[in-house]
Amino acid sequence: MSIADLVEREFAKFEQAERFYCNYALAIGFSIRRSRLRRSEGGVVMERQWVCSKEGSRSKKWTNRDDMFRTPRKETRENCHATFAMKYCPKRDAYIVTKVVTEHSH
Ligand SMILES: [Zn+2]
Repeated sequence: MSIADLVEREFAKFEQAERFYCNYALAIGFSIRRSRLRRSEGGVVMERQWVCSKEGSRSKKWTNRDDMFRTPRKETRENCHATFAMKYCPKRDAYIVTKVVTEHSH
């Protein structure tokens, strides 16, 4: 089974999905970061998204500092778009996987 087949699958709790994606990432050999999080006014997690740790690029404030005296670390983010997203469905009282991108840019 490919992880892409998980789209529209339900998880009772988003923590289960996170553990699942975390294990998957571990097996493939990349690390994930928590990305989008949206909560309802009542504090219920409505949307959750995880991305590859190499998604996006480093904020400029870290590379253009005048007071930089150490050699900047090697750029580790490679604009990777691998992602795993889900949203809460009140009708089913479950979290539905909405988006899975398995391709990595690195
Ligand atoms: Zn990646």
